[in-house]
Amino acid sequence: MSANESTATDVSDAVADRATVRAWLDRVPQHLVVTPADEAADRAAIKQLLKQHNAVLVAHYYTSPALQSLAEETGGLVADSLEMARFGAQSAASTLVVAGVRFMGETAKILSPEKTVLMPTLEATCSLDIGCPADQFSAFCQQHPDHEVVVYANTSVAVKALSDWVVTSAIAVDVVEHVLSQGKQVIWAPDKHLGRYIQRKLGCDDILLWDGACIVHEEFKVKALQDMMHLYPEAAVLAHPESPYGVLELADVVGSTTQIIKAAQARSESSFIVATDHGIFYKLQQQAPDKIFYMAPTSGEGATCRSCANCPWMGMNTLSNLRATLEQHNNRIEVDAEQGRLALMPLQRMLEFRSQR
Ligand code: SF4
Repeated sequence: MSANESTATDVSDAVADRATVRAWLDRVPQHLVVTPADEAADRAAIKQLLKQHNAVLVAHYYTSPALQSLAEETGGLVADSLEMARFGAQSAASTLVVAGVRFMGETAKILSPEKTVLMPTLEATCSLDIGCPADQFSAFCQQHPDHEVVVYANTSVAVKALSDWVVTSAIAVDVVEHVLSQGKQVIWAPDKHLGRYIQRKLGCDDILLWDGACIVHEEFKVKALQDMMHLYPEAAVLAHPESPYGVLELADVVGSTTQIIKAAQARSESSFIVATDHGIFYKLQQQAPDKIFYMAPTSGEGATCRSCANCPWMGMNTLSNLRATLEQHNNRIEVDAEQGRLALMPLQRMLEFRSQR
């Protein structure tokens, strides 16, 4: 197989383009403006309903501050996707309410099949998941049967079921390095930016990359970031590896959401430019209250906004649809039993790998 740029191009027909993503988003109704009184009523009702259903709320760092603070106040968790799933599996609650995107609810269900998993909306997905359809990915893998298949957590149950490893951004490099050290070749999917980061970190250009991207992180711009770095020369740059490689080359720290938060706490700088979804600012400000955080720019000089780093799917999670879900006990995540069984193996392999490090 040729170099990875051409590999990515070879599978480009399989990838959801922006029109597909836009069409998906357009069919979801916009939410109404919420008054403080509405918000207070929703929070009180949700607290009561969580108790009534023996349920726990787990929220991703990219959801709204309202949801993150509610998860914290009710004994739930705010975390990255891996910690959300692990927490759910260990919780005594019989119902897990997952505020995030669909693959997170599915991962929780795979790891806790005996529990009820609800989500505020089942429409919240991810451009990486959409861009890696299982049938096309299966055909790609069949063309390379001698390769170990390593997929990112941001994938469907069906894609996970096709894989040898499921990884999060926190341990993607370590797992691929481990697989390569066994003399195996690797297919990486679906995020091409994270894939290229792994290639360059490991100095291994022949990892086969699927051509997917996160529509949020892909928008971070190198030139605009350089301009911002000149404006705030004292600030360190923290970037998520789903960002384009040019952005990662400028970063002082490249890491998962949890690693970004830890870096902000531990580093000596007092200000940071952050290249990931703006939802993380809630936790950054909570965990490092004396420090200053700037959103990395996502648009050129002619645009009307400096940063549009908001995941539209994460934004579909609201207090009002969370309340409605708990009242109606709907929006359940169901996973095909056989696919769930197959997807559990690569997930468990990741958890075991992580526990040994
Ligand atoms: S921020 Fe990107 S990777 Fe994360 S859920 Fe949204 S589209 Fe997917």
